[in-house]
Amino acid sequence: MEKEILEDVKKYQKAEKLKKWQEEAEPIPWYYDGLENLCNRIHPGNQTLQVTDIEFLSPDTKLFRFISAKPNKPLAPFRAGQYIGLVVDVNGVRTSRAFSLASSPNQLSYYELGVKLKENGFVSPFLIENLQVGDILESTEPLGNLYYNPIFHGKNLVFIAGGSGITPFISMLRDISEKNLDLNVWLIFGCLTEKDILFRAELDDFTKRRTNIKLRYILSEPNSEWKGECGFISRDKILKEIGTVANKYFYVVGNRAMYEFVKEELSALGISQHRVYYEAFGVPEDITKVIGWPQELKSSNKIQITVDYRTNTGNEKIKFEALCSEPILNSVERSMKNKVKVANACRSGECALCRTRMISGKIFVPPEVKIREVDSNFGFIHPCISYPITDIHLDLTLT
Ligand SMILES: Cc1cc2nc3c(=O)[nH]c(=O)nc-3n(C[C@H](O)[C@H](O)[C@H](O)COP(=O)(O)OP(=O)(O)OC[C@H]3O[C@@H](n4cnc5c(N)ncnc54)[C@H](O)[C@@H]3O)c2cc1C
Repeated sequence: MEKEILEDVKKYQKAEKLKKWQEEAEPIPWYYDGLENLCNRIHPGNQTLQVTDIEFLSPDTKLFRFISAKPNKPLAPFRAGQYIGLVVDVNGVRTSRAFSLASSPNQLSYYELGVKLKENGFVSPFLIENLQVGDILESTEPLGNLYYNPIFHGKNLVFIAGGSGITPFISMLRDISEKNLDLNVWLIFGCLTEKDILFRAELDDFTKRRTNIKLRYILSEPNSEWKGECGFISRDKILKEIGTVANKYFYVVGNRAMYEFVKEELSALGISQHRVYYEAFGVPEDITKVIGWPQELKSSNKIQITVDYRTNTGNEKIKFEALCSEPILNSVERSMKNKVKVANACRSGECALCRTRMISGKIFVPPEVKIREVDSNFGFIHPCISYPITDIHLDLTLT
């Protein structure tokens, strides 16, 4: 017994000595606490937001202003152009959608989001019809790669926005204007009608106050009083605005239909892929119309999904049917309710947060979505933008 105690004392003394040596060799930097606090401030992971203001931006779009619901936790800083994933509970289904931060990154007392109603949508009608001042929601920290990078993007920027795709650009323009940045900007903003031009007064004001910001509205369904440009954002119209494509960097934001159209136009102008940043808002309107979709599958076809997941008592299995035309993540959220949470943010295949292991089955992913090769090699899928085309077996025991 005595011998054992002596052994323990020796071990303890040795450990203490080692610790002392380590501290002498690598003293803990004086700024350690401050740095860690700063990292947590920039990357809080999740945030709790409270609605303070709501106003209509157009007949079908509302502006929501949020403050941090936790007084000791200020809002995370962001780069103009980034988005947050807003978490909601719609009829017992916990889900989330990405929304670009429209407010200026130069103040963090609040965030602003512009939410457009999507007919037959799930979350946007819920937000527009139900969200009230005082409501509290969870969100991710600011995410996304759409922001100005001076090294790669140069000084001449072309912003191409479709509908609610203006939201990241309003934040970028506020930033450029507030900091008086030495950049030349051409904003080409496509909308259906005049009523759909969001932030119009502010956009017009930028062009009045700043000679380096040029703006063109293009309406696809104008009324007879409209004197401006009409039609789609075609290659001719782009060229007419910007003169030459040389030495310019392009950002394109809008729904998938607009994205596909503009992509063709820019490529016809000889603009190479590395000079364009695309951000598509959400999933395709009708996946069965996307190139490469297996024609024998109709949108109403049902697919069997099996999910392994973890509970407090061990692993369980659940089986349910899902439409082949719906992203797997949507049917998982709907069918599994609160049994399991799949982390997600962009829901468009960009952020990779929802990465999930697929044990068996075949999926369809829209061709423009780039999934990391290592993910596919090791059997991981991004269920937010993956459509089941055969029976699927997923492993959620690791989430
Ligand atoms: C980076 C990024 C930034 C964005 N920024 C903005 C922005 O600033 N403003 C803006 O308005 N939009 C923005 N979007 C688009 C936004 O994220 C949503 O895609 C859009 O609001 C439509 O969502 P929805 O839920 O209304 O429709 P959808 O997600 O398209 O829903 C369509 C269908 O799916 C069904 N469904 C979906 N999920 C479920 C579920 N869990 N359970 C049951 N049924 C379901 C619905 O019933 C419906 O039939 C952005 C998207 C991205 C990727």
